[in-house]
Amino acid sequence: MLEVRGLRKVYEGARSVEAVRDLTFAVGKGELVCIVGPSGAGKTTLLKCVAGLLGCTSGSVVLEGETVTGPPPGMAVVFQEYGRSLFPWMTVWQNVERPLKEKRVPKAERRRLVSEALEAVGLADVHHSHPWQLSGGMQQRVAIARAVAYEPHILLMDEPFAAVDAQTRADLEDLVRALWQRLGVTVLFVTHDIDESIYLGQRVIVLSNAPTVVLEEVAVDLPGERDQLATRSDPRFAELRARVYTLVQRAKEGHRPPE
Ligand code: ADP
Repeated sequence: MLEVRGLRKVYEGARSVEAVRDLTFAVGKGELVCIVGPSGAGKTTLLKCVAGLLGCTSGSVVLEGETVTGPPPGMAVVFQEYGRSLFPWMTVWQNVERPLKEKRVPKAERRRLVSEALEAVGLADVHHSHPWQLSGGMQQRVAIARAVAYEPHILLMDEPFAAVDAQTRADLEDLVRALWQRLGVTVLFVTHDIDESIYLGQRVIVLSNAPTVVLEEVAVDLPGERDQLATRSDPRFAELRARVYTLVQRAKEGHRPPE
């Protein structure tokens, strides 16, 4: 589904910054992969390159066999800042419908997709509201509904729950898992939260600090049915957390994989 090959990104300017040095990894169709790494490790840069919002300095991003040179049609992105990603003058319904209009989806089909997506995220009864009338968690659910209604083949999420409270965050994590299982969509989820990466992912890719390379990939061999209480108190969860935590600590200390 997605192949990132030797991706390098240098921000050019008065002082050039090598944010990503050499990233190579692949994501299979229908997989849910999390990316963790210390703050400043280049996670957002990576996601912007994958989303075609930023050009790579060298290397390539290949999605469904096509090299990414601009925003690919089969992709949707959910950003951390839901407040800035929704249009305040549009209702919830109009926000979710908007990309479908741009995709020229016929009206009846749009109505079906928007209403199903809002139903799936539990917001069917507030579709007339404006984003600013809703809580942060609800606004992020609107952004998720908008992504889901678009029927993407791949969904990119950049720290989407960093700004909501813990309880809402847990609910949204379960929502993402449920939607992923129901829709069979491929998900690439970036987070700096180690527990979240293990709870959500089938695999966790740990990044080094900048200039970034892949430090290690950790397979999450937990049962497919995740539960906030049972999964998080599973001894295997604790082992995986310890493993990823150690790797992220090493990344912060500047540890890099052997050349
Ligand atoms: P993360 O998402 O892991 O916190 P980022 O991708 O935001 O990391 O940033 C990686 C590095 O690239 C940081 O050193 C950051 O300062 C730098 N960087 C990010 N965006 C820009 C930009 N537009 N211009 C210059 N440097 C940038």
